[in-house]
Amino acid sequence: MSPGPPSCYDPRVTSDPIGLYLHIPFCTAKCGYCDFNSYAGHEHLIPSYTGTLLKEASLWRATVGQRPVATVFFGGGTPSLSPVDEMRAILDGLRATFAFAPDAEVSLEANPGSLSEQYLRGLREAGFNRLSIGVQSFDDEELVVLDRIHTAAQAKEAYAAARAAGFDNVNLDLIYGLPEQPLAAWERSLEQALALAPEHLSLYALTVEEGTPLARDIARGRVTPPDADAQAEQYEWTQDRLARAGYEQYEISNWARPGRRCAHNLLYWRNREYLGLGAGAHSYLDGVRFSTVLLPQRYQELVDESLAGIEDGRGVMRQVAGAEQITPELAMADELILGLRLVEGISRAAFADRYGRDVREVYGGVIDEFTGYGLLEETATHLRLTRRGRLLSNELFQRLLPQPAEATA
Ligand code: SF4
Repeated sequence: MSPGPPSCYDPRVTSDPIGLYLHIPFCTAKCGYCDFNSYAGHEHLIPSYTGTLLKEASLWRATVGQRPVATVFFGGGTPSLSPVDEMRAILDGLRATFAFAPDAEVSLEANPGSLSEQYLRGLREAGFNRLSIGVQSFDDEELVVLDRIHTAAQAKEAYAAARAAGFDNVNLDLIYGLPEQPLAAWERSLEQALALAPEHLSLYALTVEEGTPLARDIARGRVTPPDADAQAEQYEWTQDRLARAGYEQYEISNWARPGRRCAHNLLYWRNREYLGLGAGAHSYLDGVRFSTVLLPQRYQELVDESLAGIEDGRGVMRQVAGAEQITPELAMADELILGLRLVEGISRAAFADRYGRDVREVYGGVIDEFTGYGLLEETATHLRLTRRGRLLSNELFQRLLPQPAEATA
């Protein structure tokens, strides 16, 4: 169902916490595997883009109302390309616009090639309290294959600078299952990450996204495609190794020290609401999922038009590119697809509370089928993936999606 761009929702009477996501789509260079909404060579837009983010925030002020902002996440792109004064201005502007929870988690994604201790100190003083460093690998040759702009040594320097600047909640992002990457090479990378003792690790298998330079290189036979069996072997080893190192796996691709789970991402996996600001950002607000236009300059023009529209009394969110009213059927499917990513799974009681139906009443057939395959398990209180199910979760998630007829009903 596509009802078109929303025109100023009625503020909902709810006190549910909300997350804010800010998309900063600028990068120094485009990595060959990346299909994110990010652009190289547009850094000159950063100052005006900062202003637009705050204008867009002001457009949503009445909709969000007094709902406490529990988490803020700056992603991209490479948010750490923005000067510290710009980052402070955005954060101050958001605080002035929305009601931040006193203990709000404020995260920033950072590229090791664009970090200095002075910059990180500035971020810490501005109120950022969690840093996610995109290391991807501790092998310089692998970093070249991935087109990353930094070396392994720079990643370690960036980590040390983050600690020196006072960040005590740091995530490292790494990618495994690279073309022709032997298990031993992945082990070496992960061991170097563990030696740094971060609070959190996000570890993703390399996926080949259509339209990327990596996909083209594979199609032309220049690069060997990632091997699914090798990725599975690396994932299995990783789960065991991180358990021994004292990290809790709490999601298919995420591990944390006790008490250090990423609150912002938990909000997604628990199917809670969030507002995305910026070009190509996604939102889930007042039961509607929507996204903004992708191109930064077009996004900026449309936000200006939205503001002008409000002055004319029209109040249409012109920067919104597409929206979908979430039916109860879609909301239940989302709840399962997102919630089953969590190792604890979904609480049957919470599902029944939220939707007024028992999860078995809705999905009994699929649950029996995938329990039979050994991919799902039911406990007295929860429904969750088995260890094998975490490897093959996409098969199950496909089956949980409502058929098109149901989705548009
Ligand atoms: S730095 Fe991140 S967002 Fe930018 S091109 Fe590379 S993978 Fe994509």
